[in-house]
Amino acid sequence: MDLTSLLQKMQNCPCGKKHECDLKDVAVGSGLLKQTAEILKKNNFPTDILVVADNNTLKAADGILDILKTGGFHIKTKFFDDLRVAEYEEAENIAKLSADVDGILSVGTGSLNDICRRAAFVADKDFAIFATAPSMDGFASVTSPLMANNFKISYPAKQPSVIIGDTAILAKAPVELKSAGFGDMIAKYTALTDWKLAKLTVGEAMCENVASVTRDGLMRAISLADKVTSEDEEAAGAIFEGLILTGLAMKLGDTTRAASGAEHVVSHFWECKKLEQGLLSDFHGKKCGVATLMCIRLYKELAKIENPVFVKDSTDWDKVYEIYGENFRSEVEKYNTPTVTDETSPEILTQNWQEIRRIINEELPSVEELTALMKQAGCATTAKEIGVADNLAVLGLQYHPYMRHRMMLTRLVPMFNGIKIDWNTMAGI
Ligand SMILES: [Zn+2]
Ligand SMILES: [Zn+2]
Repeated sequence: MDLTSLLQKMQNCPCGKKHECDLKDVAVGSGLLKQTAEILKKNNFPTDILVVADNNTLKAADGILDILKTGGFHIKTKFFDDLRVAEYEEAENIAKLSADVDGILSVGTGSLNDICRRAAFVADKDFAIFATAPSMDGFASVTSPLMANNFKISYPAKQPSVIIGDTAILAKAPVELKSAGFGDMIAKYTALTDWKLAKLTVGEAMCENVASVTRDGLMRAISLADKVTSEDEEAAGAIFEGLILTGLAMKLGDTTRAASGAEHVVSHFWECKKLEQGLLSDFHGKKCGVATLMCIRLYKELAKIENPVFVKDSTDWDKVYEIYGENFRSEVEKYNTPTVTDETSPEILTQNWQEIRRIINEELPSVEELTALMKQAGCATTAKEIGVADNLAVLGLQYHPYMRHRMMLTRLVPMFNGIKIDWNTMAGI
């Protein structure tokens, strides 16, 4: 990836913001595993490091420990059996474990990277990733979505200085993980739409240059939909780069807007509610893909309304607290005192409605078009396929906005006067 020219383009951005990042090198290529030590050293990564992996990722990156040792690294290790949930507490543990080393190398994807990225931030250590699957977009991110008391929120975290992806390994990753990565990429459709709408409705800052970094990644992934499920190294590498670009966009724009919108929050809602009952959720990107389809269906439905009458936010708060339950009450209160619709008004929505409709129609593909692409890429397209019960699917789509202080089109539904939404149909049920 030509990081230098990408960063050059971001200099003196017309948005007025300084776009900076810690990422020094993204090495993507066939057979790079053998060069891991060399690549890290070339980027001045420290040689006393903690290597974090689980049994699956260690197997995928077979030989990495010896390669590091032979390459002059002194390593300490922390291995999990099969890490599926990124717990806040685990990040704290990794931070403590790294006290006597200078850097953390995460060998893996998803939750492993999430806890390591946070640990590196807490302990202020250098951080690098050796990726084993192109399954989600968090590689270059500066936040970590972590579970604490069954509530998932994003914590500040450290961007890696080096990301290595051996396409021979990425291509051989389980198809389910590669398809999940594709699902996480198509989520950028709604993410970018929500960002634009937030600018119009609550005046949130938005940078077109940063958004175009995400859009580049999205377009690369879309063009390779038919190759996702094969062991195609080129496709795996390109999707991996797409995922990195969106994480990078988050850092450059200093906002998660560049990668996540309502669809990510819907997915987090499902995850929290399932974990409350002791149930694990499906892969991040797999859920986000399904949630994206639901959100697009809803957005397109709303965009059909030519001249809606907007009113003050008519949220039934008793109902909201009932749906979230006692366990989540204080979090929901925190994000809604004040609530984000206080920052807009029926007048603002009326003034901008035609522009909002235009954005929805121009930015988002049709549900049919996207479903076909997702199926081609082996993605799940229904709640059932990701183990989310019909009832939970609908609650997620309807009530997720209250877990954040964030403007998303879904949050504006209670400001439409007298509209009836068939939530089951919107959730594809
Ligand atoms: Zn900018
Ligand atoms: Zn994501």
